Amino acid sequence: MLKKNVDGSFGFMTRSVHGGNEVDAETGAIRRPITMANSYELPYDPSDMNWSSADGQIYTRNGGANQRYLQEKLALLHNVPDCVVLASGVAALSGVFFAFLKSDSHIVMSDSTYIAAYRLINELFPDKFNVEKTLVDSSDIKTVKAAIRPNTRLIHIETPSNPTIKISDIRAIADIAHAHGALLSVDNTFASPYNQRPCELGADLTVESLTKYINGHGDAMGGAVLGAKELIDQIRSQAMVNLGGAISPFNAWLIMRGAVTLPLRMRQHNESAQKIAFFLQTLPQVRFVAYPSLSAHKNQKIAATQMHGGFGGVLSFGLNADHDGHNRFVSKLRVITSAVSLGHDESLIVFLGENDERQYLYEKEFHGGFFRLSVGLEDTQDLIDDIRQAMQD
Ligand SMILES: *Cc1c(COP(=O)(O)O)cnc(C)c1O
Repeated sequence: MLKKNVDGSFGFMTRSVHGGNEVDAETGAIRRPITMANSYELPYDPSDMNWSSADGQIYTRNGGANQRYLQEKLALLHNVPDCVVLASGVAALSGVFFAFLKSDSHIVMSDSTYIAAYRLINELFPDKFNVEKTLVDSSDIKTVKAAIRPNTRLIHIETPSNPTIKISDIRAIADIAHAHGALLSVDNTFASPYNQRPCELGADLTVESLTKYINGHGDAMGGAVLGAKELIDQIRSQAMVNLGGAISPFNAWLIMRGAVTLPLRMRQHNESAQKIAFFLQTLPQVRFVAYPSLSAHKNQKIAATQMHGGFGGVLSFGLNADHDGHNRFVSKLRVITSAVSLGHDESLIVFLGENDERQYLYEKEFHGGFFRLSVGLEDTQDLIDDIRQAMQD
């Protein structure tokens, strides 16, 4: 099925290039085409078909060609048996929650996560389905252990976390989950499979927002869940076929194209972000910097153990300045763009003000307001010069 039999025995770069690609049988093109079709020809007698199937060629919401190619590539990159790709990272997260939680079950979740994960678990699932939740500081194993209840079905963590760059010990939390018959899902978006592969560390499910590093070019949205076939099948049938979170063939194709250069891009993101984190630490205007490799980071040792490629391109920092001082700094930047999202080719910064509704969940240093900076692929020196000039009064 895979071109040149590229399997898990090949290196990460070879898998990034060749995974999911194949010579097109009809034209001989060495790139698989985009198949922009909603429907597929039915057999002579379609009356026995399962219209809710996620395997057959029926309708693009039941599975399409470009979606399958991308799933092949991502499963290879994460070294897992199966993958489902969906319309966005949030479709992937809600797919996990919808598949593995039901009324009266309990979830333990990191207190530092993407905002939609917080909204889904803190409000929507409890309100609509009576799901019980405990938000914990997942960087502290004892707290995770203490939160487990007899009806805990799922532990969901993010590491490094959005937006406070918290690091949680994937292997230790997987052991806790499994000792209590629960599943562990890990949102790996900040790391990407180049830097970290949670299923190799014992997680049952890995979630990726493909919108970020894996696509890498800021021009498409997608999400993925990876893991064992029997788990992924449930998400595929529920989240894709019946909830309707299918990805468009064009977006799947764009993400497939972007993912080819993931290892090259991640190397540069890792290197630049590390340099910028060190640089920021030297500035008197900077109140704090959060980046996993800094000695000031609480779980630096765990990050170094489980993040093999590098520490990612996202860091958070605050200034010794008031609310307006933070906004003024951003307004003076010339290379770095003020916008949400991360993992793009261009550097992006967002100011999370001191009135953010989740302040109560954050550590003290984040309370004065802070920036999340996604370090892009520009020359590192241009980014450092941009920060330096924007800090001058
Ligand atoms: C952006 C992001 C998501 C959501 O992904 P979308 O593709 O925007 O829906 C989920 N988790 C993390 C950590 C993210 O940064």
